[in-house]
Amino acid sequence: MQAAKSEEAVRVLVRCRPLSDKEVAAGYKPVVIVDNKARKITVKTDKAEKGEKVYTFDGVYGSESTQEDVFNGSIRSLVDAALQGFNSTIFAYGQTGTGKTFTMQGSSKDPGIIPRSMQQIFSHIDSSINERYLVNASYMEIYQEELHDLLRKQGKEENAKKIEIKVDQNGSIYVKHLSQYQLKSVRHMEKMMERGQQNRSVGSTDMNEYSSRSHAIFTVNIECSHLGLDGKEHIRVGKLNLVDLAGSEKQAKTNSSGERFKEATQINLSLSTLGKVINALVEKSSHVPYRDSKLTRLLQDSLGGNSKTIMVANIGPASYNVEETLSTLRYANRAK
Ligand code: ADP
Ligand code: MG
Repeated sequence: MQAAKSEEAVRVLVRCRPLSDKEVAAGYKPVVIVDNKARKITVKTDKAEKGEKVYTFDGVYGSESTQEDVFNGSIRSLVDAALQGFNSTIFAYGQTGTGKTFTMQGSSKDPGIIPRSMQQIFSHIDSSINERYLVNASYMEIYQEELHDLLRKQGKEENAKKIEIKVDQNGSIYVKHLSQYQLKSVRHMEKMMERGQQNRSVGSTDMNEYSSRSHAIFTVNIECSHLGLDGKEHIRVGKLNLVDLAGSEKQAKTNSSGERFKEATQINLSLSTLGKVINALVEKSSHVPYRDSKLTRLLQDSLGGNSKTIMVANIGPASYNVEETLSTLRYANRAK
């Protein structure tokens, strides 16, 4: 069953974080039950007929699950696919505060998907004998349907070139003027991401507030060349996109005029377009609305076709989040 699943183009995982110390102190009770074996999530809610809602996914991870469990259980095979020349994308979806950044990045003592993927890529490269690899990375964000290069050179804010999505002669998507850096090690990647994080918070006083409103996209290009049996050099290129999405929470209705309102509708637009794109791929529909948002346009060649996609839907366990939790599970359920 596992093997068949990994062949599917889109897989949806749900991860529920533990109650935080604050939530425990405030006396909140968990209302989410995670059943790993049956891959089921049960949410207790008096709004549902039987007092609960049950959903099944390709994989579920409860509050006791470790970063290693998630990576080895569901992510490793996708990174392998990228090393074999497939385009792959991992999204972290969910309400702000549910663990998207924890899942994607984690901390130095508890590294998440991004550092573990890089670890896997570099140990593969180190152990390969007849293949030569070139690893390039870029890091950008989409804020209000505008692209920002997080690895641009510092100190040139004013004359920084605007980066834009373009299509080349072969019909492939690329981002004009986007910085690319060759990576040689995990440490190198970490340093680069730290710099990207600093760029991210420019012009913002509240990092959390800001990051909850923008999509951060870390892309690794893996080029492999090897000598074929025909004596010629063969090249294959794979791509891995690691995306920490904007928070999926309903944007506040109060005060939603002007800038904030524009922001809110654009966040909802790209998340709802992403949902529609994934749904169209799952349903094998003839029209996939890639063009309806920057995010899906950008990732067009890594969503659908031969590429592999994983959506990690993050939820919190506490009762006061139940509406947002159900909304995330419904979104994730449609993407299966
Ligand atoms: P988001 O990026 O979705 O807004 P964060 O990743 O910042 O959420 O997580 C919010 C808080 O919860 C952080 O303090 C984070 O360390 C903690 N957290 C999230 N997921 C887990 C988990 N699975 N185990 C332990 N702590 C977690
Ligand atoms: Mg975050």
